[in-house]
Amino acid sequence: MHDAVSNSLDGAKKSSTSKIALNQKLKDNLEAIGHEVSAATNLDTLKIKVTERISDIAESLAQKENIEQEEQQLLSTSLSQMQSRLSELESEAENYKSKLSEQRFKSLQDALTKLPNRAAFDERLEIEFTRWTRYQHNLCLAVIDIDHFKRINDGFGHSAGDRTLQVISMALRKFLRETDFIARFGGEEFVVLFPESKLDAKLPKLESIREQVKRIPFKFKDKSLNATISIGATQFKKGDTPLGAFDRADEALYKAKRTGRDKVIITP
Ligand code: GH3
Ligand code: MG
Ligand code: MG
Repeated sequence: MHDAVSNSLDGAKKSSTSKIALNQKLKDNLEAIGHEVSAATNLDTLKIKVTERISDIAESLAQKENIEQEEQQLLSTSLSQMQSRLSELESEAENYKSKLSEQRFKSLQDALTKLPNRAAFDERLEIEFTRWTRYQHNLCLAVIDIDHFKRINDGFGHSAGDRTLQVISMALRKFLRETDFIARFGGEEFVVLFPESKLDAKLPKLESIREQVKRIPFKFKDKSLNATISIGATQFKKGDTPLGAFDRADEALYKAKRTGRDKVIITP
């Protein structure tokens, strides 16, 4: 791009110098004709002199035309060079843009379960919290933890544990609404945001999720087993911070664990 511009500037500079010289030559010839006409004493001599001047003028005009044609040629070459470079740059920029959004997507996704990850959850919680502060619509938060998950890892291996996480993640996503937001918070813990939901109304839904996860048939090393989950949930209330509400749901979850697991406990 830079070369194309500087070539065309160089060309313009050169042809402008030549054109100035040619114009001067034309002016000189015209002035000379004037002098020769006024000083003429012999018509035949004048005819010869003026004819010479006119052919000189014609030659200068032809040269000027040539220069102008070259100028046009140079300009159009430079323009098409710039245009193709511009298209290249445009497609490079498009490429970078899509790579960047792909990277951003990956940075917010958990690689194992393909669910949004903790960073995505933090981002979303911030958004939902701001919306809740502004409009005071209901907002619920649930923390879900797989019960005795370590036993699956210990008894059937880490890859059986991974598979369990993938299957339960897919199931959880399927049981939720489009507008609910689920993320893998870490390990075998998940967190869900339910916008526009009242906690009491959410309880049957959470119970049904717990039941449905329990019904998923797992089979490892020819042994059938069921995984259960415990859930703690709360609702945002006046004076809450995102962390405050999260801690309350987490405490409810630990109460569910302490009191036997495979349970939903809600705390207003
Ligand atoms: P509790 O009912 O009290 O929640 O018991 P638990 O065994 O589920 O909980 P604990 O915190 O003792 O163990 C969680 C285990 O989850 C330990 C850790 O190795 C395992 N884990 C965490 N992330 C992964 C993972 O990505 N893949 C696998 N396979 N295991 C994981
Ligand atoms: Mg657990
Ligand atoms: Mg845990």
